[in-house]
Amino acid sequence: MNPGMPGRFITLVRRLAESGRLSSAGEYRELLDPDVAADDLETLRQEARRLADRVFGRGVYMRALVEITNRCRNNCLYCGIRRDNRALERYALTPGQILDCCATAYAAGMRTFVLQGGENPDFTCDSVCAVVKAIHGRWPDAAVTLSLGEWPDAAYEAFFRAGASRYLLRQETVDALHYGKLHPPGMSRDNRLRCQASLKRIGFQTGAGIMVGSPWQTLDNIAADLAYMAELGPHMIGIGPFIPHSATPLGGFPPGSVPLTLRLISILRLMFPGANIPATTALATLDPEGRRKGILAGANVVMPNVSPSHVRESYALYDGKSHSGAEAVEGLATLAHELGGIGFEINFERGDFKNI
Ligand code: SAH
Repeated sequence: MNPGMPGRFITLVRRLAESGRLSSAGEYRELLDPDVAADDLETLRQEARRLADRVFGRGVYMRALVEITNRCRNNCLYCGIRRDNRALERYALTPGQILDCCATAYAAGMRTFVLQGGENPDFTCDSVCAVVKAIHGRWPDAAVTLSLGEWPDAAYEAFFRAGASRYLLRQETVDALHYGKLHPPGMSRDNRLRCQASLKRIGFQTGAGIMVGSPWQTLDNIAADLAYMAELGPHMIGIGPFIPHSATPLGGFPPGSVPLTLRLISILRLMFPGANIPATTALATLDPEGRRKGILAGANVVMPNVSPSHVRESYALYDGKSHSGAEAVEGLATLAHELGGIGFEINFERGDFKNI
């Protein structure tokens, strides 16, 4: 190749950095090329981090993760809290326990509470709204994020009116056939996308995302997810490696790739300069340096666990899920130290989406 000319990969990186978009799934696919030179990948990472620095500086937002229930009506083939996993002690936090978790998080300085859980059949629209209202009433300066799966539009509207302003719902994979392999009959890619579209229309800061390296996922699938997210315009993007859970039908598959996850964080940062992108627990679980590597790839969020310690073991989405140390509220000092080591610091602001 002509030494003065940037190669194709770098040309695409520059275009993405300038315009936030590529013109087709085929072009995103080129950015996922497994054979790209290490130097070129490092250029991608640096561009992404430079952009994140410009938007967020060296601050990393904290989101307090409250795992409110591991009961679930669904039976997603990858997920450890799927309905058919009988080897799991099931729990649901009471409203009082949820408020206690938020109080702990608030006292620690956090200003976003993320209530995440399975689709507990005992939860109703009204019961969720009551908890959201109680939290929103007590800490009006904090943001309430929900991550409670698929609901009818009317329920999402009620959650929003109750005071929830953000909702995390990964599409997992935009490819209908791939979606069908990861989920039981009765769940559909179409309903998942309907939910994401509704959340956006209602006015939620909306989170999308995928697992990287889920069984049968191809690079073309990931490219399609990038093209889909370019259209959707999510405000938050959750992206972590698939990690097998031994008590699921997909427990024998290998985990997803950490380097590919990092590459995707960088690509998504270039696509969505103002989006909130966490260095996920799954990334930190698979690689002891995962959290730091995620930040250095362009992530700007960490989600410390504030669930009561006696239930954390039971919220087992995948084997080995990390829920202590720098992944937990008790470990904030450790986290601050860890971030300090790479030139970053905790930012306790609520950190709403920045429309850049
Ligand atoms: N019931 C909610 C929350 C699901 S848990 C919902 O449906 O959105 C949050 C995320 O954990 C999921 O979106 C999924 O991407 C991820 N997850 C589940 N099982 C996983 C696994 N085995 N490995 C990695 N991530 C997993």
